Amino acid sequence: MSCESANEDCLGWAARDSSGVLSPYKFSRRVLGSDDVSIKITHCGICYADVVWTRNKFGDSKYPVVPGHEIVGTVKEVGSNVDGFKVGDHVGVGTFVNSCRDCKLCNDRLEVHCEKGAVFTYNGVDVDGTITKGGYSSFILVHQRYCFRIPENYPLGLAAPLVCAGITVYTPMMHHKMNQPGKSLGVIGLGGLGHLAVKFGKAFGLNVTVLSTSISKKQQALSLLGADDFVISSDKQQMTVKKFSSQSLISSNLDHDFHWFHIQKQHDLAIGL
Ligand SMILES: [Zn+2]
Ligand SMILES: [Zn+2]
Repeated sequence: MSCESANEDCLGWAARDSSGVLSPYKFSRRVLGSDDVSIKITHCGICYADVVWTRNKFGDSKYPVVPGHEIVGTVKEVGSNVDGFKVGDHVGVGTFVNSCRDCKLCNDRLEVHCEKGAVFTYNGVDVDGTITKGGYSSFILVHQRYCFRIPENYPLGLAAPLVCAGITVYTPMMHHKMNQPGKSLGVIGLGGLGHLAVKFGKAFGLNVTVLSTSISKKQQALSLLGADDFVISSDKQQMTVKKFSSQSLISSNLDHDFHWFHIQKQHDLAIGL
């Protein structure tokens, strides 16, 4: 076990108040524990959660807030008990960095729902009582259980959004068997999560229709992301012609101007993210 990390300055970007303005911030990470992996951060995605906590939208922000929980990078140091990672490995960290690892939910690999509360990657209370700080920074420590390997040939910058936005879409799709070729999928709203839902849907061999209020999304949906069809959801005629009753629907935006509850009644499966 090494104590190198305790003396190393971590350079981050922090919000100091609810303006959400980020400015440079130097701080120390905790000492590397025997089960910890220390990661040199190369990329960090931007998630809407970063806006929520830097601007104190839930009233529980603990400033200074260093946001970022779509973290990828390379292993720079490991604790003495870590045997699954070595220096130089490509890895990622998502929305939490620890949990009790003992309750039923943790044992069922549902650690994010830990009965004692998962330790979130930022604005959470760490095991040593300090407030966690996220991936808009030069390095981070994570318990090896919450460190995820990224294939060496996969671009790190493209992997970053997968550890929050990606898993948020992937998990319900897998749970509801929306990964079987030939099935049809409707994606309501095309932004971050909707984008990924289309990509996963096409990778799984589904017939994907994007429903959007904005015609400006049509080219992106069809040409860039490879969706099979595009429908303006406010256009009653298009909505009537298109048969949605045999589709699974996944909504990436519950604020979408869409008859969401009406749709839910008509479908066996309609997921809101
Ligand atoms: Zn997120
Ligand atoms: Zn637990």
